Amino acid sequence: MQISYSKQKIDANDIKAVVKVLQSDFLTQGPLVRKFEDSLKKYCNSKYAVSLSSASSALYAACKALDLKENDILWTSPNTFVASANCALLCGAKVDFVDIDPKTYNMCADELEQKLYKASKINALPKVVMPVHFAGQPCNMKRIYDLSKKYKFRIIEDASHAIGSSYKKHKIGSCKYSDISVFSFHPVKIITTGEGGACLTNNPELANKIFNFRNHGVTRDIKQMNKKNIGPWYYEQIDIGYNFRLNDISCALGISQLKKLDKIIIKRQKMYNYYNDLCKGNKIKIPFQNKDIKSSNHLYVVRIKEKNLKKSKKDVFEYFKKNNIILNVHYIPVHYHPYYVKLGFKKGSFPNSEKYYQEAFTLPLYLGIKKDDQKKVINNFKKLLR
Ligand SMILES: *Cc1c(COP(=O)(O)O)cnc(C)c1O
Repeated sequence: MQISYSKQKIDANDIKAVVKVLQSDFLTQGPLVRKFEDSLKKYCNSKYAVSLSSASSALYAACKALDLKENDILWTSPNTFVASANCALLCGAKVDFVDIDPKTYNMCADELEQKLYKASKINALPKVVMPVHFAGQPCNMKRIYDLSKKYKFRIIEDASHAIGSSYKKHKIGSCKYSDISVFSFHPVKIITTGEGGACLTNNPELANKIFNFRNHGVTRDIKQMNKKNIGPWYYEQIDIGYNFRLNDISCALGISQLKKLDKIIIKRQKMYNYYNDLCKGNKIKIPFQNKDIKSSNHLYVVRIKEKNLKKSKKDVFEYFKKNNIILNVHYIPVHYHPYYVKLGFKKGSFPNSEKYYQEAFTLPLYLGIKKDDQKKVINNFKKLLR
């Protein structure tokens, strides 16, 4: 059997929940959407939760809700999936990156502060900063939040990796230090709805904007309509939007998965600790975690210097594949992609993320991976170390 880098875990309760929806009156726009959102906000301790078709559409909706547009700027981490930056470009805004902290691989707060100071001198401050909680480890949100007060920017947390994580005892998604937090429910993430995402916020206006945006800008809320008392069939389009809705089948799965989240996090911590033990005493740099956080441990990333390996990175990947182990890399720095090169981004601009990229390997980590499989992964690495 192949050991992949990540995969979903679906149990009998999940299947029962999904089958029940299939036999019900609503496959979409039914009662489970609201129920899933209620469970999410309760779990995270936020005032509002709006489900969407993916984290990518949720990030886009979040940018739109904050009115990110032409001549505005969004800053994010280069060490992320392209969606964290694309959402700004889709709004017609500009994107720039803040290099990572070489320890946590998250956006570096010191770099952010310096870059903000420089930007303030030339009138080029960002409207939105998007920290990405890489591998589930929350960013230094207190520092970023304090800087947002000084330099007047808004914060969207790309928490695609971080449902179940906490920062200074606050659940990620509580938006204690941000305007909006975004989750992904793609099957490789902590919990899944097939495809899916959500925006969490404590701000009713932002929640309402996202809510309308995911449904063509259409409202059925009389308070928001221009014409009142037309009739029960009546709705109004008051803004422009998309169909970015999540359906009841997905939400049933989400509700069922969310119930298990705390247990999932405990299991992931055990697998994470086991990898740490296995890596001990080798030229393998294990992940670092801050004291004031709890991580969902979405990814287990090790760093190995190329000079310490007998094979090139490409050959390492192929060697593992021959042994039925699929490794991955998170992430190719966003500014390396041809689309971003065309926008003018240059190699060498974010050296920490670039050096990290050269040395990073994402090891298989998912519910159901056996201890023997983890041992096999590390033993294979040991064979390739000089
Ligand atoms: C997975 C992921 C996304 C996109 O999530 P989708 O639900 O697949 O759209 C965005 N940002 C990060 C950091 C991710 O890992």
